[in-house]
Amino acid sequence: MQRFGHIIDGQEIASISGETFPSIDPYTREPWAEIALGAKADADLAVAAARRAFDEGPWPRMTAGQRRDLINKFADLILEHGEELAMADTRDMGKPITQSLGNDVARTAQNFRFFADHAHLSPADVLPMDSGHHTYTRYEAAGVVAAIAPWNFPMMLESWKVAPALAWGNTVVLKPAEDTPVSATILARLALEAGIPAGVFNVVHGFGPDSVGQALTENPDVDRITFTGESNTGRIIARAASANLTPVSLELGGKGANVVFADADLDNAVSWSIRAIFTNAGQVCLAGSRIYVERPIFDEFLERFTDAADAMVIGDPKDPATQIGPLASEEHYTKVRGYFDTIEEVGGTRVTGGLGDGWTVKPTVVTGLDRDAKHQREEIFGPIVTITPFDSEDEVVHEVNDSPYGLNAMLFTENLVKAHRVSGSLRVGTVWVNCFFIRDLRAPFGGVGASGVGREGGNFSREFFTEPKAVVMQL
Ligand code: NAD
Repeated sequence: MQRFGHIIDGQEIASISGETFPSIDPYTREPWAEIALGAKADADLAVAAARRAFDEGPWPRMTAGQRRDLINKFADLILEHGEELAMADTRDMGKPITQSLGNDVARTAQNFRFFADHAHLSPADVLPMDSGHHTYTRYEAAGVVAAIAPWNFPMMLESWKVAPALAWGNTVVLKPAEDTPVSATILARLALEAGIPAGVFNVVHGFGPDSVGQALTENPDVDRITFTGESNTGRIIARAASANLTPVSLELGGKGANVVFADADLDNAVSWSIRAIFTNAGQVCLAGSRIYVERPIFDEFLERFTDAADAMVIGDPKDPATQIGPLASEEHYTKVRGYFDTIEEVGGTRVTGGLGDGWTVKPTVVTGLDRDAKHQREEIFGPIVTITPFDSEDEVVHEVNDSPYGLNAMLFTENLVKAHRVSGSLRVGTVWVNCFFIRDLRAPFGGVGASGVGREGGNFSREFFTEPKAVVMQL
């Protein structure tokens, strides 16, 4: 069995207690890796290393161009080790290898390159004042960043936090999710190999409550907490952060609405809607898990969508032919199974889908649910989608907005005036028109309501990972 340690101050080490925990491959349902099990003392050690590297080390004192060169070398190594990284995420959480290798590795490397360039090239304001003074803005590194990540896109979401934090001169302690620890250790090994100094990028493994996660959020030497995960965990972290007034960025859960108008290009709408809900077996915060279809095309959409769902290849995530693997863990399977088992109880009709082998749920399509049914309101985070007809634009806008979540929505229409009008009336962080999951890394990313606090991406990440300082000059 392969072993993976913490990476603290440039060394791969065991936990102070010597304890470990297994990472379970959800397809074989057997342990495949042994991971150092951290506790508060390990988290504190990692924060102390990051603090020293920030206060005394070269990283924050380098030019942005020097950091860019090292981060780009790191990105090269990520691509070179793409298969190892992809297999780590696939074995840790059952993501099909074509997605972890084809999408996640490439986007992880791209995130590092983008933020390295962004920090190097982004201009700062210079404000000539009527009084003759000049004011300019310096974007200074915030300090020690604690990054706490979820299991659904392990390396990719970790890079989305670590990349801007490093590029702006911070030092980082990353806590990956306990279900997906391996790729984080590999990333930190590669960062050292690229020449990023010891103590700049630390990884500490463990759990959340009463463990490493909680210890990071309570440590007064942490200057920023960036968290992606469940909305309830976000609430707990926000409370912990308030004790030290540590700024927090929270990327939380979602219940993405997918609206298909009667004038949509149906082939395009079906193809994106399938990807929006069934990619990663529905374990996507942005998943289009509630579809609203305008009544005149409801039957045709349902038939085409159901056929496409039935055609998906379910199986071993290590097989390149597989499109849907198992759910990430037994605990998560039990949660999704709870929704599957109660479809009829809450008044729904299962049009297609079912249970697969082990911890697998087949693409499942549900109709006939009231708007108040829990399947329409709660984040299932699995391959179960509800499809509901609607009769008017006002009605569907109300349905989309009537949710505690507000991460994203998709609209399918060939009427661009309607697309702009409806985009403007939705209470969400991102609207995709006639597509899904296309990202420009300069754009804001984040959610409204229970979906989060703050935005990531381009200048939004800069605002969070720096302390912008105004300098006023009398010339
Ligand atoms: P989770 O909240 O259970 O765990 C996320 C991380 O927080 C893990 O590393 C966990 O160990 C840690 N944690 C748990 N309790 C903690 C505590 N008290 N203090 C500190 N750390 C703690 O979430 P998950 O199940 O890993 O991920 C799935 C959730 O993430 C879904 O709700 C999904 O929508 C959300 N998500 C959101 C986005 C986004 O960008 N908005 C992206 C991906 C996933």
